Amino acid sequence: MDLIVARNRTDLLKARGDGPVALVPTMGALHEGHRSLIREARARAAQVVVSIFVNPLQFGPHEDFSRYPRTFDADLEVCEVEGVDVVFAPSAEDMYAPDRQVSVRAGEMGRIVEGAARPGHFDGMLTVVLKLFNLVRPDVAVFGQKDAQQLAMIRRMVADLDLDIEIIGAPTVREPDGLALSSRNRYLSAPDRQVALALSRALAAGAERATPSKVLAAARAVLDEAGPALDLDYLVLVDPATFAEVDESHSGAAVLAVAARVGATRLIDNVVVSLGR
Ligand code: AMP
Repeated sequence: MDLIVARNRTDLLKARGDGPVALVPTMGALHEGHRSLIREARARAAQVVVSIFVNPLQFGPHEDFSRYPRTFDADLEVCEVEGVDVVFAPSAEDMYAPDRQVSVRAGEMGRIVEGAARPGHFDGMLTVVLKLFNLVRPDVAVFGQKDAQQLAMIRRMVADLDLDIEIIGAPTVREPDGLALSSRNRYLSAPDRQVALALSRALAAGAERATPSKVLAAARAVLDEAGPALDLDYLVLVDPATFAEVDESHSGAAVLAVAARVGATRLIDNVVVSLGR
């Protein structure tokens, strides 16, 4: 079957089949991480829809919306190779009516950790994801653990708004040296990229410890070694479902999450830590 490119909602309606559909929402500039999500989707449904939409609603006024990488032709090739059935790539005008009023509010969980650093980000993200769910009507949707709080917030939305969609979390794909793949990595100069490696190294060091204070101290020590070229935004150890910081008595799984600016590029990464072993 040839890849169908739907540039608006009318085309999408025509392209959607009657059988099970798996959706992979993306902002394009597709890399190996996105490809792993597409393969997860492929294994789960007869029809795979990849959305490519750089959602203006989830960027703050001083963030990188205008310079976010847009590589549409290359993205289509990736989708073709991966056996995607439909690419849904609407325009902002097609997604958002000028007189629109109603949107999704992420709640308190949307205002902590990444949400504290990016006010309004999770409201905008959930709003577009709910719209994509309503337009594509998938049975399954696949998201990366790379954006762990996003994944947790989507699970929360599905539970709170009674959406009948199975949410799959897929593991983070990394470069051989540990750097988590990200569309924003292409902004990094060679020296910046070396600095950025401290993020995954810090997470790996933290994951070897078994109590919250030791996890955080081990990770912090690696980040400190990177020096002033790494501008740390946060390093937190949180509950995977709520993103509330865990206390010293916590046992079981926790997410060690980090965000930092390297040059002009803001990077995030996380790893699941097993506490109390
Ligand atoms: P984005 O295009 O960056 O908005 O990401 C689209 C989807 O790909 C999200 O569900 C991300 O969590 C996921 N993703 C991004 N980077 C990676 C990665 N390195 N490994 C796995 N999934 C990823």
